[in-house]
Amino acid sequence: MKRLCEEIRRRQRFVVTTHVEPDGDAVGSSLAMYHALRALGKEACVCLTDSVPPVYRFLPGSQQVLREVPADFNPDCLVALDCSELSRAGEIVSQIDRASVPILNIDHHLSNDRFGTFNLVEESAATGELVYAIIGELGIPVSREMGECVYTAILTDTGGFRYRNTTRRSLQIAAEIVSLGVSPGEIAERACESYPLERFQVLGKALRTLHVGCDGRVADFFVSRDMFNGNGVSPSIVEGFVNYPREIDGVLVSVFFREKDENQYRVSLRSKGDADVSLVARSFGGGGHRNAAGCLIEGEFDVVREHVLRKVCEMIQGSGL
Ligand code: 5GP
Ligand code: MN
Repeated sequence: MKRLCEEIRRRQRFVVTTHVEPDGDAVGSSLAMYHALRALGKEACVCLTDSVPPVYRFLPGSQQVLREVPADFNPDCLVALDCSELSRAGEIVSQIDRASVPILNIDHHLSNDRFGTFNLVEESAATGELVYAIIGELGIPVSREMGECVYTAILTDTGGFRYRNTTRRSLQIAAEIVSLGVSPGEIAERACESYPLERFQVLGKALRTLHVGCDGRVADFFVSRDMFNGNGVSPSIVEGFVNYPREIDGVLVSVFFREKDENQYRVSLRSKGDADVSLVARSFGGGGHRNAAGCLIEGEFDVVREHVLRKVCEMIQGSGL
């Protein structure tokens, strides 16, 4: 932490980035970092491979997010947030001269492969918590803007302070931010209750594919491309769908398949308690945490689904759950 903060002080022009298909923690921690760097008098730009999902566009700074590194910017530092591997940041990284630009890797995935020149990898509910700690270590007063971004990061990665990754520290940071005047109700309305109607139209179609198996312990469902094609909306509107079947009594693991391309599926896994879905995701070349993981799999849908569900059920049985 100290060395990473020294490096931040030494450098002048920062590109801040995060993973493809960014979620609330990805966007919130990137923008909090952006505000912190600017408060230190640094030049910074947030450059992402994918655009900010509409529900997170209320966050201060989101209008300044770029989809490429400006040709005349010449960064002397790259900050990668919430990425367990550098490849998770997507193609934006190819626009940076990695031979001369050090990378600060700040992440809360224990599976992180320490790709950075400096690595701050710590288990915490959200990468936003680590950014909050960096802001403190750098002695920067937490502004309302930083607060809103960090609060949203923690709120979304803890499922609204409900998941088991929620700690005393998550709640303490949230309380400190609320004392700055940030309203939990307002942020929750914006980040969790401002989805486009199309999300629920697609959800309706997807839920018709819901199945529960493995003795009532695994629920899965999927969206195909044609479920949203008619609506002309971006795939980001299905973010978080995987969380719904987790709410079924007795279900330990919820699996959501999204058709990304012909014979290519994004698989999202969520679990309760000790069921470790990162083991399943890793066996398919993906990664994540014990209770939230994902991977990308090629093949015909029925085969992919059957393969994943078998692995999940084996994992549950193997853990004696
Ligand atoms: P989601 O289901 O929201 O896409 O991802 C859940 C978690 O799994 C996230 O913390 C994310 O970092 C991780 N994850 C999802 N997909 C991949 C992947 O393809 N590779 C790796 N390494 N991690 C993934
Ligand atoms: Mn995260």
